Amino acid sequence: MSINELHKELASGKVSAVELAKSYLETIRKTNPSLNSFITVCEENALKQAAKADERLKSKKNVTPLTGIPIGIKDLLITKGIRTTCASKILSNYVPQYNATVVDKLENAGAVILGKLNMDEFAMGSSNEHSAFGPVKNPHNEKYVPGGSSGGSAAAVASNQCAAALGTDTGGSIRQPASMCGCVGIKPTYGRVSRFGLVAFASSLDQIGPITKNVTDAAIMLKAISGHDNLDSTTLKSEVPDYAAALKEGLNGIKIGVPKEYFIKGISKEVAESVNQAIKKLEKNGAEIVDISLPHTEYAVACYYIIAPAEASANLARYDGIRYGHRAKSAGSVDDLFRQTRTEGFGPEVTLRIMLGTYVLSSGYYDAYYRKAQCVRTLIKNDFAGAFAKVDAIVSPTAPTPAFKIGEKTDDPLQMYLADIFTTPVNLAGLPAISIPCGASKDRLPIGMQIIGKHLDEAKILNLAYNYELIA
Ligand code: GLN
Repeated sequence: MSINELHKELASGKVSAVELAKSYLETIRKTNPSLNSFITVCEENALKQAAKADERLKSKKNVTPLTGIPIGIKDLLITKGIRTTCASKILSNYVPQYNATVVDKLENAGAVILGKLNMDEFAMGSSNEHSAFGPVKNPHNEKYVPGGSSGGSAAAVASNQCAAALGTDTGGSIRQPASMCGCVGIKPTYGRVSRFGLVAFASSLDQIGPITKNVTDAAIMLKAISGHDNLDSTTLKSEVPDYAAALKEGLNGIKIGVPKEYFIKGISKEVAESVNQAIKKLEKNGAEIVDISLPHTEYAVACYYIIAPAEASANLARYDGIRYGHRAKSAGSVDDLFRQTRTEGFGPEVTLRIMLGTYVLSSGYYDAYYRKAQCVRTLIKNDFAGAFAKVDAIVSPTAPTPAFKIGEKTDDPLQMYLADIFTTPVNLAGLPAISIPCGASKDRLPIGMQIIGKHLDEAKILNLAYNYELIA
């Protein structure tokens, strides 16, 4: 059931929050051994929160659309008293002393937190195969990946282990797994949601957002987690609209841009067909389709894979075996301790990114790589600005292919990085984008369509997505 449906059941007293939590926990018990989407299940905590939610529901005081709703949280978001691993050995025993702002917000709304979801280590990956806790399986077919890095979040929502989940998106990690698991996922405008308590990967790109069963749920969740936060100076002061209340029927007069650079050779035929059909449906229902060009798209992956590792190499310097996390046993000097701790604690993809990032920032290479990538980032941003002078939203595939087989791309990082070709430009430009299901492959694997919006125009892309849901 969706959040909306569950809310009705809870508000009318047909089911209690405790009963609901128990039933979801039972599903997790049954399905998690094979799906591996949860790293930590917090049963006791969840039942306590559910009992509190029941009090609120009974007294009809402080009831929000999320009161009593069972939610899963990506394990990159810190949770007070609950182990937060980032799917890394280096933090496998780390128990934070406070909550991420988004977690506080969900708890204050009365949500019930079932546990912490699996992911690629430190959110670096597109398949959830880079987790120190093992890969997550795609609930539609367990031989396939769920996408990444928020693979656990998408798999858990798709398999009814939770009603909705939080993910994070640095280069596509909400939208791409949502598309591969048949869910809705929205990456908000950079600065819409507080990153306080989000373990940093690439600070100029990271954003938190929901993965849900439908667009209305995404709107409800986004409203709950958005807003300015004194603890994150990059959050925006602008007001948060009631996204769910703003959902309304009708596409008349909406101008949708279709960028030719997003329908290139190399993308799966099935994906191109599904998205083209969806675009036709939108047109039939009143939207105006406009051909546009985003000429610097082809440089986005290269640009992203310089900027993101550069920022990661700085952010991950804090894991030294002294302040928190794993600490190597047999260390001689302090240098040895750092080296051994980090060698033992980080997996191969994270190590690769740190080395890449350190390299592009080193003197002599900084100008050739990092500075150039920053210039290209501006060109990509300008591409979008130019397009949005003509259209209200931009539609594209979310990923070039449906989910691929586990193991298919692990030997070739570049192939894996290409899975992010349509999502990374959006992070580089700081824009909001949503992925919604728009079909399935012949192997019955979901296909997603991405809708990109103007800065802070989440309401518009949610509306478009909602209307597509109605006509799909
Ligand atoms: N797949 C991309 C990467 O590996 C994006 C990850 C993300 O958005 N966290 O960096």
